[in-house]
Amino acid sequence: MINIRASQTSGWNDCPRRGAARAYKDIIEKAGFEVDGKANYVRGVASSLGTAVHVGAAHALRKKIDGESVSLDDMIDVSNADFDEAVCNGLSFDSITGKPSVAKIQIERLLKVYFNAILPNINPIMTEQFIQAELKGGHLLTAHPDVLEINSVHDLKTGREPYEYHAQLGSYSLLAKANNICIPEKLIIDWIQRTAISKTYIEPKSIVFNVEICEAEAKSTIKSIISQVKEFQDTGDPVAFPANCMSNLCSVNYCPCIGTDFCKLKEN
Ligand code: SF4
Repeated sequence: MINIRASQTSGWNDCPRRGAARAYKDIIEKAGFEVDGKANYVRGVASSLGTAVHVGAAHALRKKIDGESVSLDDMIDVSNADFDEAVCNGLSFDSITGKPSVAKIQIERLLKVYFNAILPNINPIMTEQFIQAELKGGHLLTAHPDVLEINSVHDLKTGREPYEYHAQLGSYSLLAKANNICIPEKLIIDWIQRTAISKTYIEPKSIVFNVEICEAEAKSTIKSIISQVKEFQDTGDPVAFPANCMSNLCSVNYCPCIGTDFCKLKEN
């Protein structure tokens, strides 16, 4: 049985081998490969900050589902607590967020924008709940979608312009239907970009994706993942997962298996 997380589908085609090193570490190590032996891989601040903002947003959405009032201060508190934990576990900082105190300012700004511009337009029926569906062959598709509404799916992004998430959104849509939760007519990315604190204004965008296109991309990517994992299980050869060393993420900062036996395309 192969487990496919909806969130792994979007970046998969950028470099399936990197995606496999993250998603199927157990299968790869069982075949005798070390997938993170040589990289100095430390989680980046961008993803930890994004996760912290998600935690604050989910807190607000749960309150909204329960019919309770939502406090921006509470959102900020739960987000900061999540971020503090990430800092304790080790983080690499970057040019937009150079240190934890800057991250806290950015988290607060992003949550304010979410609270004022996004939250009032969402009527959630479910948030961050685990859902799954069995696929042909007994494989599993799983997810924790940010928000399901009666006729749409919302996903919050805080990174760069979010135009590569068709497969992930399509997976959410397929899961919502398979679990009889709703029939999405719109798949929406609510985008509030993490920016340097010198920028005074952040414009949020709600970008609507086409359901049919996203579901088709999801099905195609899921099919590729299953076939590549099965080939690797049969052959034990890393080439079962195509590799793209032209990817922008082909570096020690983003790829756990760079320079290992599992991917020798770019030495560490
Ligand atoms: S080292 Fe580069 S090519 Fe190899 S898996 Fe990582 S991202 Fe892909």
